[in-house]
Formats: sequence, structure tokens, C-alpha cells
Amino acid sequence: MTDYRPLIGLTPSLNDDESRISLSRCFIDAIVAVGGMPVILPMTGDAALLMETVERCDGVLFTGGGDIDPRAFGQDTRPCCGGISVERDAMEIPLAKLLHARHDKPVLGVCRGEQIINVALGGTVYQDIPTDCPTARLAHRQKMPARYGAHSVTIRRDTKLYSILGTESADVNSLHHQAVDQVAPELAVAALAPDGIIEAVESKTHPFYIGVQWHPEVLAATDAASQAIFRGFVQACTGN
Ligand code: MN
Repeated sequence: MTDYRPLIGLTPSLNDDESRISLSRCFIDAIVAVGGMPVILPMTGDAALLMETVERCDGVLFTGGGDIDPRAFGQDTRPCCGGISVERDAMEIPLAKLLHARHDKPVLGVCRGEQIINVALGGTVYQDIPTDCPTARLAHRQKMPARYGAHSVTIRRDTKLYSILGTESADVNSLHHQAVDQVAPELAVAALAPDGIIEAVESKTHPFYIGVQWHPEVLAATDAASQAIFRGFVQACTGN
């Protein structure tokens, strides 16, 4: 029998006029480096086609990108909200919800991907951190390149994320405009920034359904903790 690499489906970004998809190549490199085979999922409103594609994947990674349409979590859009892609939201939110319900495909969410899994399961995000959460005193949109750490996070000991990282504290980069506000009922907080901003969530019931607010894919080539997230994810996708 051929020993195939686990097939990891990645959600792409869509540009403003919805004519092109894109993806940071760091995701591809990070998955290949730990033995996975990355494929980009089709940007499609055809749910049957999307599910047929996902069915062949061993896990799904929700990647980074722009803001989430506040109407997806029951709010009107305020001027502080950033650029949104209605079409991308419409693809990702039902997919994240369905994958949580069936438990058989590991899910990793990165940055926007962390927020998407929270919204998909009934949570909310801040439309703009400084506006909606004045107590957040850190610069969550760092002004240096993403390869530099920007703030620490504290990882809760009783979490899957802790079992992967093996540490209660990590230095992470921070390139997000929004952040998790109300945590979805089926998710638990897995990591916090020193100012209280939620930096990771994970499912209370799904064997591997984790979202991180930072960008480990940028650091995975040089940082063992960042690579451990992708290694843990791809290993879970092998069924081991
Ligand atoms: Mn942050």
C-alpha cells in the first residue's frame, strides 16, 4: 500500500474584486516540512463541491486574511471594521461548523482562521480591538516584520495546545486587527496575551480543533514551538 502523506486542505484568501485567490507560501512550506501535503481548497459557493474536496483531505487549515463580516455574528458593521470578503466568509463559516460537528478531520485555524472557527460555532469577534476593547493595551498589529515576536502569550495547562507546545509561555508575533470577544460555547480559551486578548481557542469535544491568533507559519522554519503546532496538526491528520 502506498504510504501517502496526509492531505491538508487550506482555505485561500480572495482579493478585493474577488478575481484572484492567494495564500502565504509560509503555510505550504510549514506543512511540507512536517510531512504533510498541502492543497488549496476551491473558493466556491458550491457546498457539495467543497465538501467533496474536503472529504478527500485528512485535515483542514483555515488561514489568515481580512476581517470577518460582523453580520455573520449578528452585529451591524461599524466604520472601525476592516476589509471583509462576504464570499470567503460564506465558504469558511459553514465548513468550519460542519467539520466541528463530525470530529473526524483535524482543524487548525490561524489568525483570521482562529476567529472564523469561533464565529462558526456561535462566538463573536471585536470589530476593531482598540475601539471594542479599550483595556487591550498591547500593539496587536506589530509594526515590524512578522518574523519578529511582538508579545508573550500564556498557554493554559489543561489544553491540547499546551500538550503540543509543552510550555506555559511563548513569544508570538501579532498581526491582527480583530480578536475573539465572546467565546463560542463549544470552545475554550487556550491562550491569553498579557492584556487579556484571547490568543488561542480549542474545542472542548473535538479531538483536534485549535485556533491560534498569531502566525506560527512565519516562524515554523526557525522556531521549534511554531513548528510543533504544524507537526501536531499533521500528526493528528495521519490518525496517529
Ligand atoms: Mn496578539
